[in-house]
Amino acid sequence: MITSKQLQHFLSKEQESRYHAVCQAAKEKYPAPVAPDKRLGYAVIGLGKLTLEEILPALSICKYSKLTALVSGDADKARKIAEQYGVPDTGIYNYQNFDEIKNNPEVDAVFIVLPNSMHHEFTIRAAKAGKHVLCEKPMANSVEECEEMIQACKEANRKLMIAYRIQYESYNKLIKQWTREKKYGKVKVIEAYNGQNLPSPNVWRAQKKLGGGGALPDIGIYCLNTIRYILGEEPTSVLANSFSTPGDARFKEIEESMLFQMTFPSGVLAMCGTCYGAQTAKSYKIYADEGYYGLDPAFSYSGLQMHVSEQADKKIELHKMPTMIEEDQFALEIDHFSECIACDKQPYTPGEEGLQDMKIIKSIYQSAYEGRVIKLDYHTEKDMFRGPDPI
Ligand code: NAD
Repeated sequence: MITSKQLQHFLSKEQESRYHAVCQAAKEKYPAPVAPDKRLGYAVIGLGKLTLEEILPALSICKYSKLTALVSGDADKARKIAEQYGVPDTGIYNYQNFDEIKNNPEVDAVFIVLPNSMHHEFTIRAAKAGKHVLCEKPMANSVEECEEMIQACKEANRKLMIAYRIQYESYNKLIKQWTREKKYGKVKVIEAYNGQNLPSPNVWRAQKKLGGGGALPDIGIYCLNTIRYILGEEPTSVLANSFSTPGDARFKEIEESMLFQMTFPSGVLAMCGTCYGAQTAKSYKIYADEGYYGLDPAFSYSGLQMHVSEQADKKIELHKMPTMIEEDQFALEIDHFSECIACDKQPYTPGEEGLQDMKIIKSIYQSAYEGRVIKLDYHTEKDMFRGPDPI
C-alpha cells in the first residue's frame, strides 16, 4: 500500500482521493464501482480500430477507470471522438505536444494503442511525463526496446503493464486452473493456432519497420503467451519454420506463416502455428493423461467456446461444452491496472512479461532462419515474470 506521504509527494489532492477510493473498493469482499469522479483517468494514444471498437467502449463500462484524454495525429477525428465520449478540449493532444500531458492531473495513466514500432517511444515519453503505462502487445519490436521501456518506467517510478487481455479472461483462467491442479492428469502436449487474412499490403502490419515482423509478433504471440500463462512455465527450447507465398505483395517484408515448437521443463511439448494468409481461426487444445480440453475460438474478444473430452470408466468418451458468464476482456485488464496503481501493486502482466515473449520471439525467428533448435534460459520458478494473481 502506498503511504499518504508518498501520495502527497506525487499526487494532487484530487488524485490522492481517487487512488484511495479505488484501492478501498478493490479490497472490499464484493467490489463495487467507484463514483465516476473517483475513477482513474486514462489517455488513449492512437485512435485506430482497436481503440474505437473495443477500448473506448470498455472504458465506458469500467468500475475503476475512465477516459480523460485522447492522443491522435488527426485533430478532426480526435475532436469528434472527444465529443462522443465527453473528453474536454483540454484533454486532446497530438503526437508532438503529447509531453504536455504531464500538466494534466486528470490523466493518471496512458494506454498505448499504436503500431508496434511506436510503443517504445510513447512508453518512455509517458513515463517521463509522470504517467503510468498500459501498453498493447507486442510490447515492442526488440528485446532492447523492451528493456529500455522497463528501465524508463522504473526510473520514473511509474507502473508498466502489457495488455495481455487473455490472462484476465474467465475461460482461459479456468483452463489455467485445471492445468495447474491436474484435473485431467498431467499435460503432455498442447497445440495452438492463431491465423487471419491480412487485408492488403498497404497496412502498417505488412511493413517490417512498423510491425517488427509478420504474423508471429502480432497474432502468433497469443499462442506463445497463452501457453506460458496456462503452464506458468518458460520454454527451454524452440524449433521453428516460416514461409511466405512468393509474389504475394502482402508478404514482401514479413513472414506469412510461422510454425514453432516449444519444450517446457515439466516435459510438455507445444506445437504452435500462426498465419497471415488464411481464413480466421483461433484455437488451442491441451492433451492430458485422462482427457483433452481447450477453446475454439480461444483468442477472440468474446464468444469463446470451451470443449472438454474425458474418459468415463476408461471406456466411454464424454464430450462437454461448459459455459461461463463472459465479461469485457478490455474492461477487466484496464481495471486491474487501475487497482495496481491505486494500491501500489505489481501488475499481473508487467513489462517483464512482455520482454520474455520478445526474447522467445527473437529465438523463434533465429530458429526458422538457421534451421536448428535454439536453447533458451532454463527457469524453474513458476510465473516468474508475473505479478500477484488478480484471482
Ligand atoms: P490500427 O491500424 O487500426 O490503428 C493504429 C493507429 O495508429 C491509427 O489511429 C493510426 O492513425 C495511428 N498511427 C500513428 N502513426 C502511424 C503510422 N506511422 N502508421 C500507421 N498508423 C499510425 O491498428 P490497431 O489494430 O488498432 O492496433 C494498434 C495496436 O494494438 C497494435 O500494437 C496491435 O498489436 C494492438 N492490438 C491488440 C489487440 C488485442 O486484442 N489486445 C487487437 C488488435 C490490435
